[in-house]
Amino acid sequence: MSERKSMTNNTEVKSDSKKVGFVSLGCPKALVDSERILTQLKLEGYDIVPSYENADVVVVNTCGFIDSAKQESLDAIGEAIRENGKVIVTGCMGKNAEEITRVHPKVLSVTGPQAYEAVVSAVHEVIPQPVRHDPFIDLVPPQGIKLTPRHYAYLKISEGCNHRCSFCIIPSLRGDLVSRPVGEVLEEAERLVNAGVRELLVISQDTSAYGVDLKYRTGFWQGRPVKGNMQGLCEALADLGVWVRLHYVYPYPHVDHLMPLMASGRILPYLDIPFQHASPRILKLMKRPAAAEDTLERILSWRRDVPNLTLRSTFIVGFPGETEAEFEELLSFLKAAQLDRVGCFKYSPVEGATANALPDAVPEEVKEERWLRFMAVQQEISAARLQAKIGEEIDVIVDEIHEDHAVARSMADAPEIDGVVYLEHPEGLEVGDFVTVTVRDADEYDLYA
Ligand code: SF4
Repeated sequence: MSERKSMTNNTEVKSDSKKVGFVSLGCPKALVDSERILTQLKLEGYDIVPSYENADVVVVNTCGFIDSAKQESLDAIGEAIRENGKVIVTGCMGKNAEEITRVHPKVLSVTGPQAYEAVVSAVHEVIPQPVRHDPFIDLVPPQGIKLTPRHYAYLKISEGCNHRCSFCIIPSLRGDLVSRPVGEVLEEAERLVNAGVRELLVISQDTSAYGVDLKYRTGFWQGRPVKGNMQGLCEALADLGVWVRLHYVYPYPHVDHLMPLMASGRILPYLDIPFQHASPRILKLMKRPAAAEDTLERILSWRRDVPNLTLRSTFIVGFPGETEAEFEELLSFLKAAQLDRVGCFKYSPVEGATANALPDAVPEEVKEERWLRFMAVQQEISAARLQAKIGEEIDVIVDEIHEDHAVARSMADAPEIDGVVYLEHPEGLEVGDFVTVTVRDADEYDLYA
């Protein structure tokens, strides 16, 4: 969420070009927004430059999810103003323009998330669209510009969210769920694969809700009908012959229908499900999707169907009103669920979230103590699950090649958030290769093969 990517690209910079600098902050969803804005600017003939001093204007794509991300966004804007002077702000934090202009009155324009056209218009105002643009010679790759390495790409299937989790302000920033038509998503996926992408990371705020706003309207792709729901989309994506990884899924009963696809290896046996808690009362206070489901029973049944299923999740400790008994319930859930990868946050109020009005805030030292206990339990589980892989043969995708080793990921590792697999003997390997390796060792997070 807080990762900053200064954008660079390797296209030739022409002397008469109009140059835009770009700073992208935030989650993978914001990264996709950045990619779309950059693609449009390149199509219009702008050059994207990697430094403040060479840029005619700088666009900063902000993150407004939690207070530390907001501060990082404000710092990035301040740096761009100091180093360049002409700054256009967009992204989640831009939804509340006042918050930005109060600190940085010199910014030229502020827009919210997914405001691609508005950002591009703001760029036009500072530097008019270059006249030299020629669609036949300007080299924007057909899949658009990607900020992720060429062999994997994020595929955003919807914007916004219909839930109203009490700790979250994303629906007020991004609005209700708007799914992209299934044919459009599949065409983008196909373009990416044709351009060399070997792993698609499906993202949204709620992947399990995909299509509900379109009444699961059937779409068309490659001349055949495709059902506009999560299962239809996944079945079609599986036909592309690349790794397909699902993020931000909730444990609804219809997720069961994906298990045959995972068991047969047609999509990766991997689910990223932000459970956030295990106590029914806390989940209700959080207003979490699928709060009433028997999550543990569902996990056990998925594991029966797909024994090599990897489950990643995130949790919040110290939510208002969380009692010691409810926290213990969470620890028992962890022990029973045996999740592979887990992130844990101490609850911190986000301006505008309804949870701020809940009584019985948990003192900071109790949050800290619970966080430490949580991490101790989970680290032991994660480490044991990795240890159990020693001696196994696994398939990996190569991310980086170094002189004496390569860095790869297994089906159980999403880029940037999970662990990696360090490979000896990188000779002959190339980035994006799939190879089968034998696991020799494991530590708390990573494998050695
Ligand atoms: S599901 Fe909840 S936490 Fe996720 S975006 Fe929607 S409201 Fe926020």
